[in-house]
Amino acid sequence: MKKHVRILSLLLCLLVTFLLVGCDPGGSSSVPSSQASAVSQQTVSQQTPEQLTAHFIDVGQGDAIFVELPDERTMLIDSGESEYGSKVIDYITDLGYSRLDYLVITHAHTDHMGSMKQVVTHFEIGQIFMPRTNASSKTYRSMLQAISDKGLKITQAKAGVSVLQEEELQAHFLSPNRDTYAEHNNYSAALKLTYGEIRYLFMADAEQLSEQEITDDVSADIVKVGHHGSDSSSGEQFVQRVGAKIAVISVGEGNRYRHPSDKIIARWRNSGATVYRTDRDGTVSVSTDGAVISLKTQNGQSSSFAIPQQSAASSQAQTTYVLNTANKKIHAPDCYAVSQIAAQNKQETTQTPEALQQQGYTVCGICKAQ
Ligand SMILES: [Zn+2]
Ligand SMILES: [Zn+2]
Repeated sequence: MKKHVRILSLLLCLLVTFLLVGCDPGGSSSVPSSQASAVSQQTVSQQTPEQLTAHFIDVGQGDAIFVELPDERTMLIDSGESEYGSKVIDYITDLGYSRLDYLVITHAHTDHMGSMKQVVTHFEIGQIFMPRTNASSKTYRSMLQAISDKGLKITQAKAGVSVLQEEELQAHFLSPNRDTYAEHNNYSAALKLTYGEIRYLFMADAEQLSEQEITDDVSADIVKVGHHGSDSSSGEQFVQRVGAKIAVISVGEGNRYRHPSDKIIARWRNSGATVYRTDRDGTVSVSTDGAVISLKTQNGQSSSFAIPQQSAASSQAQTTYVLNTANKKIHAPDCYAVSQIAAQNKQETTQTPEALQQQGYTVCGICKAQ
């Protein structure tokens, strides 16, 4: 079914691109014809059976993450407020899917499950995972009704519950770790998804209390930052434990909660992550073949990340700096000035800037060693 739709979409795209008219199955934006082919590549799935792609769909202030799993399987983690239901449904449909094999409802706040009733009604659904909570809102109850109307059952999401257990592909919940919480966000079902060597961590709205309760290994290459980048989440120690290369904040432009927090953005950056945010980058898609990561944003930015093998002994994330031993400057590895350093003066280090400053080094004025 999916292949059929994908081939049709691709043919349609090629034809339309040939005619120099933007192929935009999402139908939301008009794009100059010179950019048409780039946009069509982004909106029609380029997924091969060996790839995994997590799409952090821009649903304003909320979360909706669609994961294309290997072998044409799918997972949806949250779906945003009710007004984003058709956007999420169209996004998934345009990629050529009509079935959600795994549906994760992280907690009962409407910015995560407001459109879940529409999603459940629209798609063929495999398994549903949701934490047990004390929620009772009208939106929540009508979602439960839609689930039972389709004869579907809910598997309780909690720490240790496994979603996928295959040789190359695993997914399990890291939280919640108890039955009751005062703050509803802490019921959030956080999920770790591993494909080959690449690890994704989806934190939903889990706050620092929940982060501290997780005893499982939280280290990850890609993290969906907890609670829209609020300072209620992303505790200093937790951020260090995760040690992500890519941190995605799902957040609405000009939201009334003033998310994300500048302090939290700086914290993830300082831990070595490149931060993406859906209010500025639009939908962010992070793909992997199990070894190499590639990332695309809706605004056309794309990059590749080679993940260095970490030594098994180091569970803590270590930031590497590049030193110019001649003029005693500390640079971030991606600072453009690094390429100018003569080989004999170039040295890599994992010492902290503070320790280096005591040895007479100063931070580069351009990259600020960040
Ligand atoms: Zn939320
Ligand atoms: Zn919430």
